[in-house]
Amino acid sequence: MIECVSGLFRNQGLHARPKILFTPILLLPTLTLPMSSTTFNLAALAGDGIGPEVMREAIKVLRAVEKKFSLTFNITEAPVGWAGIDAAGKALPDATLELCRKSDSILFGSVGLPDRDPTIPKEERPERAALLRLRKEFGLFANLRPVKLPKELAHSCPLRLDRQSDGIDILVVRELTGGMYFGQPKKTEQVSPGVQRAIDTMVYTTPEIERIAHVAFKAASVRRKKVTSIDKANVLENGVLWRDVVTTVGKLYPGVALEHMFVDNGAMQLLLKPTQFDVMLCENMFGDILSDEAAALAGSLGMLPSASLGATSGERTFGFYEPAGGTAPDIAGKNLANPIAQILSTALMLRYSFGLNDAADSIDRAVGQAIASGLRTGDIFNAADTAAKKVGTREMGDAIAGAI
Ligand code: NAD
Repeated sequence: MIECVSGLFRNQGLHARPKILFTPILLLPTLTLPMSSTTFNLAALAGDGIGPEVMREAIKVLRAVEKKFSLTFNITEAPVGWAGIDAAGKALPDATLELCRKSDSILFGSVGLPDRDPTIPKEERPERAALLRLRKEFGLFANLRPVKLPKELAHSCPLRLDRQSDGIDILVVRELTGGMYFGQPKKTEQVSPGVQRAIDTMVYTTPEIERIAHVAFKAASVRRKKVTSIDKANVLENGVLWRDVVTTVGKLYPGVALEHMFVDNGAMQLLLKPTQFDVMLCENMFGDILSDEAAALAGSLGMLPSASLGATSGERTFGFYEPAGGTAPDIAGKNLANPIAQILSTALMLRYSFGLNDAADSIDRAVGQAIASGLRTGDIFNAADTAAKKVGTREMGDAIAGAI
């Protein structure tokens, strides 16, 4: 039996909790190279659109961290998405998947191109064939999306200043491998001439809810100690089970306050009083929607990193790290993309997969310095701010790497 979540946050000063054992995740990545605690094998899958541009800057920053903290990152790049289809006929080429299996963690850009996606069958399209496949393959059941609005970027938040209070700082914890996106049956059928019926199925089991609830409570323990669990218990059977199980798990964390909120109210409260939230715990589809709504509060998708965590093995937690946004074809190839989301995703990797908190802090600080010094990519630029200087993807990456 593998204890799936006990290793998470190990290095964040958590006290021992009652041990609860979960269903084992069988698809553990195989670590084939002998490794010291300062050597890390990383798969870098840049993907499509702005993916390669922002990945280049993230690797630049990791190289600076490597030097400063005497670490070794063996970074191997491989194609995925349309880059995978063009190179090897599949959105997730076999060699790319094999590389991921041999790696300690995956750094991912983004995949999919709206003008090319409709030209191939749905199941072969990059988001389904690569992204969803990787999540399932590596048992990435927990998605963590920190949403932070630095005070210098208050202008890019769509809410009035008084609704932002002292700044927004929310962690959305989303269940990633269950619910409606994976439940069976899932199909579209012809029921009569001219009438089709589409079926998606929402399914959750007790262990699936337990393990994601533990992630949320542990995260809240080292934050502001509050979990808001999102469900639709007034309508859905899944919601009733979700609420029951989260309540039971919550009793194991007496230092963390738990509140339940219906998803429709949660969507509204995010706009009315976002500062009431610390950790928002959501099932897959509600988390998908609410994490994007929360993301809008930070002003740009270009600022938002994301971590997807799988099993813990020894001191390391296998993780998949990516920006919250997509391939942004409207700005791809023009040195316009904001690389900060991709760069901050490397900080999440150092923190959550490898427990390298000092190195992760150095990236967070360097990003803060670049913002404080007035550097802005187009998505966060405010012409009214006389101290702001518009820069490109590369220049932002250079400044952050330089500040490490
Ligand atoms: P998108 O996130 O790519 O773009 C939405 C808007 O946000 C655009 O205006 C874009 O320019 C902007 N944006 C996103 N990231 C940015 C950054 N780093 N810097 C500056 N601006 C940024 O969403 P979309 O347009 O709906 O989707 C485009 C493609 O990406 C689609 O094919 C979609 O399927 C795919 N997609 C992939 C992922 C993923 O791989 N995880 C996620 C979402 C969308």
